[in-house]
Amino acid sequence: MSVMEIFETMEYGPAPEAAAPGLAWIKEHEPFGLFINNQWVKPASGQYIESINPATGKQLTKVAAANSADVDAAVAAARTAFELWGKTPGHVRARYMYAIARHIQKHSRLLAVLESLDNGKPIRETRDIDIPLVARHFYYYAGWAQLMESQLPDYQPVGVVGQIIPWNFPLLMLAWKIAPALAMGNTVVLKPARYTSLTALKFAEIMQEIGLPPGVVNILTGEASQVGEALVRHPDVNKIAFTGSTDVGRSIRRATAGSGKKLSLELGGKSPFIVFDDADLDSVVEGVVDAIWFNQGQVCCAGSRLLVQENIANRLIEKLRVRMEHLRIGDPLDKAVDIGAIVSPGQLKEIQRLVNQGVEEGAVMWQPSWACPTEGFFFPPTLFTNVSPATIIAQVEIFGPVLVSMTFRTPTEAVELANNTRYGLAASVWSDNINLALDVAPKLKAGSVWINCTNLFDASSGFGGYRESGFGREGGKEGMYEYVRPKWETLETPLEALHIAQDSTPSNGSGSLQDEDGESTFQDLAFGSSNGYVPALPAIDRTPKMFIGGKQARPDSGYSRDIYDPQERMIGQVGEGNRKDIRNAVEAAHAASGWAVGTTHNRAQILYYIAENLSTREDEFARRIVQQTGRPYADAAAEVQVSISRLFSYAAWADKFEGVVHRPPLRGAVLAMPEAIGVMAITCPDEYPLLGFISLVAPALAMGNTLVVVPSQQSPLSATDCYQVLETSDLPNGVVNIVTGDRDTLSQVLADHDDVDGMWYFGPAEGCKQVELASAGNMKRTWVNYGHPRNWLDPVQGEGEEFLRESTQVKNIWIPYGE
Ligand code: NDP
Repeated sequence: MSVMEIFETMEYGPAPEAAAPGLAWIKEHEPFGLFINNQWVKPASGQYIESINPATGKQLTKVAAANSADVDAAVAAARTAFELWGKTPGHVRARYMYAIARHIQKHSRLLAVLESLDNGKPIRETRDIDIPLVARHFYYYAGWAQLMESQLPDYQPVGVVGQIIPWNFPLLMLAWKIAPALAMGNTVVLKPARYTSLTALKFAEIMQEIGLPPGVVNILTGEASQVGEALVRHPDVNKIAFTGSTDVGRSIRRATAGSGKKLSLELGGKSPFIVFDDADLDSVVEGVVDAIWFNQGQVCCAGSRLLVQENIANRLIEKLRVRMEHLRIGDPLDKAVDIGAIVSPGQLKEIQRLVNQGVEEGAVMWQPSWACPTEGFFFPPTLFTNVSPATIIAQVEIFGPVLVSMTFRTPTEAVELANNTRYGLAASVWSDNINLALDVAPKLKAGSVWINCTNLFDASSGFGGYRESGFGREGGKEGMYEYVRPKWETLETPLEALHIAQDSTPSNGSGSLQDEDGESTFQDLAFGSSNGYVPALPAIDRTPKMFIGGKQARPDSGYSRDIYDPQERMIGQVGEGNRKDIRNAVEAAHAASGWAVGTTHNRAQILYYIAENLSTREDEFARRIVQQTGRPYADAAAEVQVSISRLFSYAAWADKFEGVVHRPPLRGAVLAMPEAIGVMAITCPDEYPLLGFISLVAPALAMGNTLVVVPSQQSPLSATDCYQVLETSDLPNGVVNIVTGDRDTLSQVLADHDDVDGMWYFGPAEGCKQVELASAGNMKRTWVNYGHPRNWLDPVQGEGEEFLRESTQVKNIWIPYGE
């Protein structure tokens, strides 16, 4: 027999991993309890739920089913623990985290076996990918715990964090959540998915082993309706971190709206896998295997849409079919197996339903000739061709080993097809032309882009979505900001307090602009005069319109709104904006998207120019502030000065808030690039009519966003006076659009708008809640003040990196190198 014949006919022999140690561990720990305050406690309900081995369909064990009483107990334990843990020095937290990492390594094989038994994923993956990455996360974040005091001196932990994780990477998702939380001094209540609790329970045992202080980590197994929802709604939880389906993410966004809880959501995806005709097709085939058949395709960032350049499509599909024929499906504990079991019968049924739908939609389905095991929940690798981009299988996350393929002709078409999805988690680009790959990567709406590779993860490199794939990042330095808040933020002073403070600002009683001799000059202002000169003619009317697409446009409604000074005297009128004005403004902002891809140098120049033009009209702007607020002239002049300085700051930042190059453990680099969010809506605060406007608009502009701004409802005239400043500063049309009117009516339209990618709202608590609620529609990123004031004059509160981070989302571009 020739070598070639042996190579072609040789069957794999089974290489089974022993299940015995895992099964023995389970037996030893039955009945499983809940892990609260470092104790194993019985569930208040007395109920238990089955845990099934997906490869056999048989019961492995039962785990405790917590309910809201257990959630109360766990949150209380976490709150008590936070009082100490939150103040524990970073070095001490680092030591605990280092111990966790070491113990994960000590128990790595048991953890891998338990994970495969419980989830159905191949032991090769749990052993070589999941568990090593878990340890890596704790090591990496032990480092950030050590460095927190020096690297994040202005930040404090958030408090008690509720974490809800899915079943596809049970222990890895736990690590992604718990490691940064502990590093930053938070305490945790974590709910694993009901199908896959076992490794979280083994992890709890490790917490006891290393002597982590009681209450720092609490683990509650059970059902979403009993545990997940109670955790999300619990008033003493300060942050929710969730990974799972977009629908549940959306419901959590709504449930937490207005509560002031921080939120990070890592949701679904339908990630493109783009193959250009100069790619190495053999590598591409292995890439596809890793993209969609890794973990049975139950991966949020699975490359589930294969987009192939038309001239090589047939060749690639043929090669893929040959490879698929050789994939091995079966016992997850067999080391020679490529594809394990689907997590549950429900998930299996859903995959089958969507595949049937694809066939009904007219796509061509192909599966290998071999049959799946009949025991357990298995689904064969499946490839669809002849898929139309608008069909269900091309749009919906199937979350199984199902690949849909489509073709394109040009790079532009590839980008369009890739972005033709509501998701934006990841993308893979395959080409031997690095120029082409690096040109395409920034155009893809995705949080991770892998060049000539796929499904690579590392603690150093942030992971998270654009669009409806969620917001927030896990991993990297940006992942830490999800678990901290600024030190100055006390969240105790309601906005009203600031208004009272402003109203009580010393003035001449009428809150007027004063001459040096104390004479009121309100009158002067109303008639357009200073220096005591009173003109004989009435001032020319200056009723501002809207500012849309670089032009001043009349309000669609044809109505105006009266603007009053603090003494209830009318000082002007502005347009009453409505839904149509907002629609036009959003369209104009979209049309100006070239702003994001222009050079940062250019953006900096324009911000400097706006500052320059503002400074030539300092006096006029100061008087306008006095007129609207009744504050003393000196105070108003200071506000203008700070506004000019703030424009300078963001002009400076425009070309300095840059990404970093990560060095994960591979031959290559990861470029972490902060990118503009897109079209952003900004609702400005009432306090500081000019500075509030500039402090929000300038950072968002500096980072390349295009804006629809609703200025202060009470004092909009400082913003409308800026029209001319903007017009004369070379700002391209449509980059800033300003719509005046009723703050909350306009904000509601913006928050509901599907073409607005992000929204900031600085106003009353109720308005914040409405914005967060409505944002769930297209999962736009939001930043709101929950009705709490900021001192806009204070550079710590009113400017800086927090604003720049909120203006951007990080894209991680993975570039392996070497032959
Ligand atoms: P879910 O989003 O329902 O579940 C994820 C986690 O959230 C689980 O711990 C679940 O608990 C919990 N949960 C569910 N509903 C709520 C709620 N209302 N409030 C709080 N917590 C809740 O995912 P499924 O497991 O149902 O999978 C359905 C689909 O979701 C998959 O087919 C896939 O498309 C997608 N998915 C995406 C993942 C990703 O990584 N992006 C991961 C998993 C699924 P419990 O387990 O008790 O239901």
